[in-house]
Amino acid sequence: MNASNGSIYLTFDDGPDEEWTPRVLDALADAHARATFFVVGEFVRRTPALLRRIDAEGHDIGNHTHSHRHPWIMSDRAAREAVRVGAEIIAETIGRLPQFYRAPHGRNRRCMTQEAEKLGACCIGWDLSAVDWGPFGTAPKIAARLNRAETGDILLMHDGRNRHNRPDELMRVLPGFLDDLAARKVSCHVLAAEFVT
Ligand SMILES: [Zn+2]
Repeated sequence: MNASNGSIYLTFDDGPDEEWTPRVLDALADAHARATFFVVGEFVRRTPALLRRIDAEGHDIGNHTHSHRHPWIMSDRAAREAVRVGAEIIAETIGRLPQFYRAPHGRNRRCMTQEAEKLGACCIGWDLSAVDWGPFGTAPKIAARLNRAETGDILLMHDGRNRHNRPDELMRVLPGFLDDLAARKVSCHVLAAEFVT
């Protein structure tokens, strides 16, 4: 008998981050939850061991470009390269290309999506954002947003401190949120198993 009441899909963007990614990983491990991390290539270069830890602990890794530059301020060639190099750094570090690509700032640009698809990844967004950044990224507001999650949702959060992100505020509520999901018998899976056709 399947005791689960359904699944949700946790995603964490803009890492890996030496300070915050290990804390997110510890919280996920405590809750037996799996997630997908959309990583930035230049941060992977700084902390390759952290990417290998994410992989070794059963999570999936997606491409969030090499530089996290805004898709609309690059030339066509630079935009394609940002996607390709991001994928290559992941492959060099964990031995396989990512199956998913997520656009920086959620701005999908056709040539970047095409480049990701050429490399075997599909482009994916999210259903519910924790808005764990900026002035509205406070723990109570993040908790209220996360509590609206329904089964089947892809949730957007950030483990990387890149720019205005508030992983410190997120971490005040993430363990409790994961406990609530477990109590509701909602399981957390990587995107890979469910979305690749
Ligand atoms: Zn991002």
